[in-house]
Amino acid sequence: MAEKIDQHTHCHMCGKVIPLSETLCSKDCKDKYQNMVKKRKMFVYVMYAIIFFIITLFFIQNII
Ligand SMILES: [Zn+2]
Repeated sequence: MAEKIDQHTHCHMCGKVIPLSETLCSKDCKDKYQNMVKKRKMFVYVMYAIIFFIITLFFIQNII
């Protein structure tokens, strides 16, 4: 008789097998994940700032 294979997924950070209802295996991985999300958000803000800076430069050049 074949053993029942539980449905499972893998931790988004370390790849450890975890229940399907979870996305991360431990508090440690949750902290790391939060940090990664924060860094990603920062990156998006920096990109917007750069785009805004370039557009501003473009307008200033047009005025002068
Ligand atoms: Zn993990």
